[in-house]
Formats: sequence, structure tokens, C-alpha cells
Amino acid sequence: MKKGSDPFLRKEPDPFFEMKQELVIATRNPDKKKEIEKLLSGLSVKVLSLSDFPNIPEIKERGSTFEENAITKALTCARKTGKLSLADDSGLEVHYLGGKPGVRSARFAGNKVTYGDNNEKLLRLLKDMPPHKRRAEFICCIAMADKNGIIKVVKGACSGRIADGIRGDYGFGYDPLFIPRGYTGTFAELGERIKNRISHRSRALRKVKKTIAEYFQKYSL
Ligand code: IMP
Repeated sequence: MKKGSDPFLRKEPDPFFEMKQELVIATRNPDKKKEIEKLLSGLSVKVLSLSDFPNIPEIKERGSTFEENAITKALTCARKTGKLSLADDSGLEVHYLGGKPGVRSARFAGNKVTYGDNNEKLLRLLKDMPPHKRRAEFICCIAMADKNGIIKVVKGACSGRIADGIRGDYGFGYDPLFIPRGYTGTFAELGERIKNRISHRSRALRKVKKTIAEYFQKYSL
């Protein structure tokens, strides 16, 4: 038979099959969602976030580690949506500050603060510190779960140092302050292509991508 002439070959997308290829990111942070969606773009899955489920209440982050928070968020999201869920719990650990802001990265300067408030606080705490005291690491823990439980938990890290001022426009959070090892620019100056190649999040997602593809393959049969 000539290639492409199989009458049973589906030409139009099957709505049932398509419907199953949905993944929910357990976040309402549009910056995280956008970045994860881009990093998963090779997978042809529809990426949703908790913003698509306005009735689900905020999932509290009460854990003392990235893993604990990621697992809680992934399980809650999967149980409430019934869909395959990915939770990213991430943050910045500054060596001189004993690993702070760590799991409290989003709330470093207080509750309901802006990225700018957190950056200013960090710059204040590191004022006049030499480069070797500005060493830091971005950490990202990703938990994958469906309504039956946790499927996989992975971690990614990216080492670097904290700049002595805000630099660049790309990204979010601490990006304008974080200079990855081997570079002279901050993530916010280096931009999407370089950040997505070396970031903590891209390193963690690379470890889970195959499992996501296998999951959808298994459940689409
Ligand atoms: P989470 O929602 O508790 O995981 O908070 C993550 C916080 O860590 C964000 O609000 C940012 O402040 C910071 N963060 C995590 N990943 C990144 C990143 O890729 N760039 C800049 N800041 C980040």
C-alpha cells in the first residue's frame, strides 16, 4: 500500500484522544506556567494551569522542603482536577544566608510582596559582599501525579552568584539578580534561549519529560 493511503489512518484529530492529552501545572503563577509550557513544547500536550480551574482553592505551601511542597501541590491538583498534574516548587538558595530565601523565595520580603520587593531585600542583605559571598543556587523540584498518586519526583539545580544590582528585563522573580556560572549576564539579560537551556527548571523537566510521554502513550491505547 502506498504511504499515506491507508483508509483507516486517522486524518482528523480524535476529540477523545486529544481530550486525554491534558496536563495541569499546579500553579496560578503565569510566569511559571509560560516557562514550563515552552519547555514541554516538544510533547504536544495541552498545558493547563490552576487558573483554568477557578473553583479550586489555593494550595498552601506548608512544607519545609521543595520536595514536600511539590508533592502536596501535585497530589492536590491531580485529585481535584482528575488530570495528570505537574507541580514545580522552586527557589533560590544563597550560601552566605544559610540557604535563604529557599522555600520562602516567593515570600522572602513578606506576604503579598512583589518580585521587586524580594530582590531589594536580597540586595540589601548582600550589600558590599564580595563575589565569593554571593554564591547561590536555583533549585527546582518537580512532582508528577495523577489521581492515583505520585508518579515521579525529580530535582534540577543551577549554580551561580547574585549580581550587585538589578539587570535585564527577561523572566521573573530573581532572574534580574542571578548570574549563572560560566556567564557574565543575569538570567534576565541572557534571555529565554539560554535560560531554558541551563536553568534549574529545564534540568528538572528534562528528567520527567519521557515519563509524561509514556504516561499519555499508555492511556491513549
Ligand atoms: P513557589 O511558587 O513557592 O515555587 O515560588 C517560587 C519562587 O522562587 C518564585 O516566586 C521566584 O521568586 C523564585 N523562582 C523560582 N524559579 C525562578 C526562576 O526561574 N527565576 C527567578 N525566580 C525564580
